[in-house]
Amino acid sequence: LVVLDNVNKHFGALHVLQDIDLTIARGEVVVVIGPSGSGKSTLCRTINRLETVDSGGITIDGKPLPQEGKELARLRADVGMVFQSFNLFAHKTVLENVTLGQTKVRKTDKQAAEQKARALLDRVGVGNQADKYPAQLSGGQQQRVAIARALAMDPKVMLFDEPTSALDPEMINEVLEVMQQLAQEGMTMVVVTHEMGFARSAANRVVFMADGRVVEEATPDQFFSNPRSDRAKDFLSKIL
Ligand code: ATP
Ligand code: MG
Repeated sequence: LVVLDNVNKHFGALHVLQDIDLTIARGEVVVVIGPSGSGKSTLCRTINRLETVDSGGITIDGKPLPQEGKELARLRADVGMVFQSFNLFAHKTVLENVTLGQTKVRKTDKQAAEQKARALLDRVGVGNQADKYPAQLSGGQQQRVAIARALAMDPKVMLFDEPTSALDPEMINEVLEVMQQLAQEGMTMVVVTHEMGFARSAANRVVFMADGRVVEEATPDQFFSNPRSDRAKDFLSKIL
């Protein structure tokens, strides 16, 4: 579904993505882990073209990423993204947050969009918060709204960049449970996370990055019980 072919990217002198080859199959859940600064966020951001690449190709469903305009807006809808910092529209209600992209990008009529939004808000457990503003919600609730907002676009793939890192501990599980559910339903997902429990239980594959490279790819079982590279061993010894 998503193919990165020899992707390279620099920030000035920093070679932040180096010869990245990665294929994400439909329905696959890929967890990306690695030390700070290894390029995990940049990798995610290239897939929905929040960052451009210097060389190499990225395709979704066999098509290269569009460059601009309506095509680009459609790409961002097809590739849902959930950030560490929620990024909801502060001056719109929860319902409006989940309705807006549907009416603007997908051209869904308002009534149908609201109906879908309410169903999704129910599904992520915040159906009773529809008329509130983001600031009136807990972090865990806001993040679940952000997930509902992305799902409202019927994405082909969902990218999660440390979706629980900004949350108080007691709210982490409510977000992970929604993600776990999505994974079980067959959503194609790329998840950058330090939640190793989630990686073990939900991931089909773990991708370990260091210094802008994919150093190791393995099943969670293989990776956690028997990492091959020294970088991965070192990383795991620090976090487990
Ligand atoms: P973390 O675990 O801390 O989130 P990460 O693996 O997500 O790290 P990236 O955010 O992808 O890492 O950053 C990779 C490198 O690129 C870092 O050294 C970072 O400082 C640098 N970088 C990221 N974004 C930019 C930017 N817009 N301009 C310049 N350098 C950047
Ligand atoms: Mg990051």
